[in-house]
Amino acid sequence: MTSYSYDTSNIFARILRGEIPCKKVLETEHSLAFHDIAPQAPVHVLVIPKGPYVNADHFARAASDAEIVDYTRAIGKVCEEMGLCPDRGGLGYRLVSNGGEAGVQEVPHLHVHIAGGRVLGRMLA
Ligand code: ADP
Repeated sequence: MTSYSYDTSNIFARILRGEIPCKKVLETEHSLAFHDIAPQAPVHVLVIPKGPYVNADHFARAASDAEIVDYTRAIGKVCEEMGLCPDRGGLGYRLVSNGGEAGVQEVPHLHVHIAGGRVLGRMLA
């Protein structure tokens, strides 16, 4: 069984503990969404699970069904609340979740970036 080591001092863990502030967009039982501190698009929101998961593969392996459902719905809800949904008058959006060194993940707590509000360039640089 693969073991994941979660660093409880990472910045998103500190936000979850209320030690540092965030600009909250949405909070559910298992998830929190807040504005990115250095936005790369007119809308740039991060969605994180409240549980101690390092990245998407850790979450998929270790989270409960309730956490996974809550997190997936939270992502959809943020897209909706930020007016990004393409079938409801929005321009669309991009979801990105970086994992590990090749993914250039800087904060070792799972987060999905939701970017939108303008036409985005191609990715996978
Ligand atoms: P990268 O910086 O390469 O995108 P990540 O995928 O780990 O790496 O993304 C971390 C994101 O967290 C960055 O977009 C960064 O601007 C954002 N961030 C860092 N600290 C904070 C904070 N205190 N509040 C909100 N967003 C933050």
